[in-house]
Amino acid sequence: MQASINHPAIVEPGGVIGVLGGGQLGRMLAMAAAQLGLKTHSYCPDTPCPAEDVSAVFTHASYTDEPALAAFAASVDVITYEFENVPAETVAFLTSIGATVRPGAKALEKAQDRLFEKDFINALGAATADYHAVDDLASLEEGLNRIGRPAILKTRRLGYDGKGQTTLTDKDEDLPEAFQKAIAFAWDEIGAAPSILEAFVPFEREISIIGARSAGGEVQLYDPAENVHRSGILKTSSAPARVTPETARKARSVTSAILAALDYVGVIGVEFFVLKNGDVVINEFAPRVHNSGHWTTDACAVSQFEQHIRAVAGWPLGDPARHSDAVMENLIGDEVNAWRELASAPDACIHLYGKRQARAGRKMGHVTRLKRSA
Ligand code: AMP
Repeated sequence: MQASINHPAIVEPGGVIGVLGGGQLGRMLAMAAAQLGLKTHSYCPDTPCPAEDVSAVFTHASYTDEPALAAFAASVDVITYEFENVPAETVAFLTSIGATVRPGAKALEKAQDRLFEKDFINALGAATADYHAVDDLASLEEGLNRIGRPAILKTRRLGYDGKGQTTLTDKDEDLPEAFQKAIAFAWDEIGAAPSILEAFVPFEREISIIGARSAGGEVQLYDPAENVHRSGILKTSSAPARVTPETARKARSVTSAILAALDYVGVIGVEFFVLKNGDVVINEFAPRVHNSGHWTTDACAVSQFEQHIRAVAGWPLGDPARHSDAVMENLIGDEVNAWRELASAPDACIHLYGKRQARAGRKMGHVTRLKRSA
């Protein structure tokens, strides 16, 4: 019988933050934790992992390895995660042995499934693209008849960076083929790959808000950033976004509503489409620190990473005010080879993730260029 874990309400300096996942987000969380005098124990099945270089302790084990998870939980003071596809059973097991997991199971449950996520957002009275659950060809046809074209077919689970998505534009399209194409990515992992058909949103721009909520319910929001994607992958985030104060207010208000409804503790990234009339439509949210918030490391006194650590450790939140305008650019694949030129540019803050292989589409680092706010 497993002894019950007893995590403290507040993690004091010298304490240990447990992080599920060992990618670049975990790496940057560990660096922020160290700044606050906290240590990080990262848990990740893969080896090597970007977080490994900077974590005080590292466990390589699977997310279903209960003895390893129990040992991990016993060695830390709180557990968080740096990616949203942590299996629900992993969090359920950790919680069952008394561990504190923040942001927690509810946020994961909604964020892991595009259908649950959209149902949840609409129930809050916030807007998403029109959508239709697709489990087979018949429901795909039904959805297309209702929503029209263009429409985007996405797997409900496990899609990221444009994977597991296909756009349907032409009436002559071979639907069985399009269906197979969209679900091919997730087929192995989840078998039938339930999907969702989304209306195409004719957006003017895309923005995101990085928000944080403390254990006591305090909320702090960063300024909206404007995001540009290339081949489904975030390329640049610029802060501030070119939106009116009213659009920013709407996006902030929805972000606060999501944080409260999830009884959330930690940092969240909420992505929006901005329409011509200034209204916002939620694309999705990520229950973790977010790529579109990397600019906060160089342009704010308290970064999204520090803010997340503060929240999960039970500390007061920091000031999210922006002291500079910023443009963050992801270094994808072999773009990272430009590090020498970037290193000699006076305005470039370079962040490299220590990944050995620069494969196409792989996020290898980012560079943030600052301009003092007017
Ligand atoms: P996602 O993985 O759902 O965040 O989609 C990646 C990118 O594809 C988004 O940031 C948009 O640029 C685009 N996209 C996704 N869904 C839609 C939609 N319903 N309408 C228009 N563009 C979309």
